[in-house]
Amino acid sequence: MKITGAKIYIDNNGPFKVGKHHMVFVRLYTDEGIYGVGEPIVYGVGIPAVAEYIKELAGLLIGRDPFETEAIWHRFRGGWEALGGPLTISAISAIDIALWDIKGKALGVPVYKLLGGKVREKVPVYLSHIEFGYPDTDQPPITPEEFETVARRARDKGYQYVKANFFRYDAAGNVTRVDRYHPFDQDFYKLIRERMLAVQQGLGSDGEIIIENNAMTGLEDAYRTIEAARGTNILFFEEPVEPDPHQMKLVAEKSPFPLATGERIPGRTGILPFLENRSTKVLMPDVCNTGGITEFKKVADLAESFGASISSHTCGGPINQAASIHLGAVIPNFLLHEHHVHTLNDYNFKYGLYKYDATDGLLEVPELPGLGQDISPDVLDRFDVFTVGEVKE
Ligand code: MG
Repeated sequence: MKITGAKIYIDNNGPFKVGKHHMVFVRLYTDEGIYGVGEPIVYGVGIPAVAEYIKELAGLLIGRDPFETEAIWHRFRGGWEALGGPLTISAISAIDIALWDIKGKALGVPVYKLLGGKVREKVPVYLSHIEFGYPDTDQPPITPEEFETVARRARDKGYQYVKANFFRYDAAGNVTRVDRYHPFDQDFYKLIRERMLAVQQGLGSDGEIIIENNAMTGLEDAYRTIEAARGTNILFFEEPVEPDPHQMKLVAEKSPFPLATGERIPGRTGILPFLENRSTKVLMPDVCNTGGITEFKKVADLAESFGASISSHTCGGPINQAASIHLGAVIPNFLLHEHHVHTLNDYNFKYGLYKYDATDGLLEVPELPGLGQDISPDVLDRFDVFTVGEVKE
């Protein structure tokens, strides 16, 4: 089997804004009539660049055997292609995911079987970023009472774990202005604490909270956030500071609960300093920017050797979701899959041919050959499409 070409899909009809992902996909085609689908993850102004880079990488693969995922990754890593930061590694991730889809389809098995098989029957999830509101409302909670209502709805839907950025909106409902070097004042921390207590109330006594600071805050805010969370059940604290191992170590020394980071740190070499200095207990790679399925599995194995767990970052489209579910099923040290409230919007679901949603906080693992996901034919006319090589459909 040989790769013959690719189509790159970029949705220029859906400019990125809050609540709507800006979708980019790739389909890699072969001489045997099988294609695989992949997705990068990048936000905002980097989107056209990553689409263009996928096109260039796909051109390099024409004539290659799609089963050679390790050799192809090694080729990119050994050359300049893997250098250059998040845009290039996102493009490589999209290609790698598409290759695994081809392999599964060619062999007639779901991707999880190619990765060693399931270690759990279903994949546990948490509801992510409830500060944007429950998926079908898109109405951000502002008061503690509104946070409690959203958390209660999440719990009623089966989510035992929820994540929130507690400072994203101020008391008046405006987006908070954040300055890493000037912490929020004590009045705002009073509100942040009330919001945390309200979410705990809404979840019930066995519910657990993930605090998300989105790497926006500095050390002082990280310390104050830890203090504000006293008396609540915190599963972990995500990106209390920018993804810097030295700063994370300083936070870890004062934190009674585990810290997490990883969505902006591609690959094994990126996460290693956080493991070595024991600052980070939960690694949060995204299969669409850590290097695809090939590298994600290695990141997870490296983390396991340090006693750390994996909680996948999955704030992308349907291919991002499907690839992450397969990984969540096979990785022994896997903690939770992320269900972003925006991912659960119908607007975003409609891009996928299949809908994978959680029941009682658990996701079914796709059983179709390959990833078990594709771009829905209903949305194909939304995309600008770039073709490289020959594509046979
Ligand atoms: Mg995050």
